Amino acid sequence: MQHSNVGSKKLCNKYFIILLLGLLLLSACSIEIDTLQPADDGLLEIHFIDTGQSDSIFIKSPDGKSMLIDAGNNDDGQTIIDYIERLNVHRLDFVVGTHPHEDHIGAMDDIIEHFDIGKILMPKVTANTKTFKDVLLAVKDKGLKVTSARGGMEFSLDEGVNIDILAPNSSSYESLNNYSIVIKLTYGNTSFLFTGDAEKISEEEMLKNENYNLSADVLKVAHHGSSSGTTKEFLSAVSPKYAVICVGSDNTYGHPHKETLELLSDYGVQVYTTADNGNILITSDGQNIEIKRVK
Ligand SMILES: [Zn+2]
Repeated sequence: MQHSNVGSKKLCNKYFIILLLGLLLLSACSIEIDTLQPADDGLLEIHFIDTGQSDSIFIKSPDGKSMLIDAGNNDDGQTIIDYIERLNVHRLDFVVGTHPHEDHIGAMDDIIEHFDIGKILMPKVTANTKTFKDVLLAVKDKGLKVTSARGGMEFSLDEGVNIDILAPNSSSYESLNNYSIVIKLTYGNTSFLFTGDAEKISEEEMLKNENYNLSADVLKVAHHGSSSGTTKEFLSAVSPKYAVICVGSDNTYGHPHKETLELLSDYGVQVYTTADNGNILITSDGQNIEIKRVK
C-alpha cells in the first residue's frame, strides 16, 4: 500500500512536470514562426529586421510599393540587403534615415548603392562623422537628392497607404535624437507609429500640435526602449495595442529600460522585442493585424 502511494505520488509529480513544460512551451510559442518569403496576398507588411542594437524597418504596401526606415549599423548592410532580396524586392520607393546616428544610417550607403532608389528622406541636420559623409557620398554618386522631412508633411506610399510625418517640429535641438523623423502610417483602420529615437522634447511638440492624431495600433518604441523616450503622456495619446522594441540582447545601454517596460505593461501593451524574437513581421489587411516571427 505504502509502495503504491509513493508510486502514485511520483506519477503525479511526473504529470505536473509535463504540464509545466507544456505551459512553458505554449508561452514560448505564443508568436508563430514563419519562413521569410515573397507574399502575394495583398497585405501590408512591416518587417522589423533583427539588426541587433539598431533600427531597420522594411515596409511593403499591398501593391508592392516599398519603404525602408533606417538601415542598422555600419556592418548590417548585407543582412538588410539579403533580407529584402529574399522578398524579391529590388527597388526601394522611399528610404528614410530618421536621424544621423550610426545605429540608424550605418548601412544606408550600402543600401543606396545596391537598390534602385526613389526618394530619400532625412531631417535637416548634419553630423560630422564618416558614417554620415558616406551616406551623402552614396546619394551623390547615384545622382539622387535628400528631401528634408519635417512634421506636417504627408504623402501616399501607395493607394490607401498614407504616410504622415509628425516630427521633427523644430529646427534646432541639443540632442540629435530629437531630430528623428517620426512617421505615422495608416492603412484602412490600422495604423503604425515609427518614432526613431525621439525623446521627451519631440514627444511634447507632437502632443501640443492639435493637427496630429497620434493614436496607433502599433508603436515602434522610441530609442530602443530607453527611458529617455515614451513618456506617459505620449503613450497615453498613442494608446497602442502592440509595441515593438528594436534592441540587441545584452547591449551596453541596458535597453530596454525597466521604466519603459513597466509603463508599457501598465498600459496593457503587448510588447515584442527583436532581441527575444529575431525578425518580427506585422501584417495588416486594413482591418486586422497579425504578428509573426520570421526566419
Ligand atoms: Zn538608435
